[in-house]
Amino acid sequence: MSRPHAGRVAWITGSTSGIGLAIARQLASEGASIALHGQGQASAGTEALAAEIAGTYGVPVRHYTLDLRDGHAIAPLAQRIAAELGAIGILVNNAGMQHVSPLLEFPAGKWDDLLAVNLSAPFHAIQACAPAMLERGWGRIINIASVSGLVGVARKPAYVASKHGLIGLTKSVALEFATTPVTCNAICPGWVLTPLVQAQIDALAAREQIGGDEARQQLLGAKQPSQAFVTVEQVAALASFLASDQAAQVRGAHWNMDGGFTAA
Ligand code: NAD
Repeated sequence: MSRPHAGRVAWITGSTSGIGLAIARQLASEGASIALHGQGQASAGTEALAAEIAGTYGVPVRHYTLDLRDGHAIAPLAQRIAAELGAIGILVNNAGMQHVSPLLEFPAGKWDDLLAVNLSAPFHAIQACAPAMLERGWGRIINIASVSGLVGVARKPAYVASKHGLIGLTKSVALEFATTPVTCNAICPGWVLTPLVQAQIDALAAREQIGGDEARQQLLGAKQPSQAFVTVEQVAALASFLASDQAAQVRGAHWNMDGGFTAA
């Protein structure tokens, strides 16, 4: 097995499920030490998950918890990860929230939460991790945006605004670091079947009084021309490429993987 990231440390936010977990597994398989991160309290389940990944791939894995709405706590967490695992070389800003509601009924508190987690947290994490990357002469910042960072979607004002903002942040950071060995890129998935999307399928099924399979097909049919979900492993493979040395000149990209969603 090729281990291009042996000796490197990767912090993947929101990595106890879905896309983040797949990226953690992929980077672990390539030799990186992994900072798993979740929102809830540490539990037997999260400790078992860390132990399972460590055992499977033979790399150090530790699990950290932090509610990313608390922006001031992000730098201290980055420092703790660096102290316990080593300087962070790969930062994947993956954690994200969704809330679907018509604009006129959209709760202001939800707007604040989504912007904090989806946009401000990546800013704080980049600010905390970039100095060591620059000092050590290698770094990869990968922001998990969305097709909702490229096109508008009704009833998702905060999500769309935050993901457009995240792509803007990506470009700005990439340009600022353009002459350094630190890159910053965004991935824009279409529909990926994860807990975040399952919640939307469940809500659609309840609203339309239809079964789960029909709701899944409606969701895909409306937007994703391939009529197939992107898989978490496919997104992880793209993240792996962006983290590679071969991607050194991919800078400020917003790379879609969306079954044709944004080609229409
Ligand atoms: P998921 O629900 O499995 O993962 C989201 C992660 O974010 C979870 O680990 C959760 O704990 C974490 N998180 C949420 N709020 C948090 C908070 N306040 N503090 C700390 N962590 C918090 O869903 P996913 O689909 O794997 O989402 C991962 C990323 O991919 C998100 O940024 C999402 O916007 C993006 N994305 C998903 C899809 C999709 O179709 N699933 C499409 C495009 C983009």
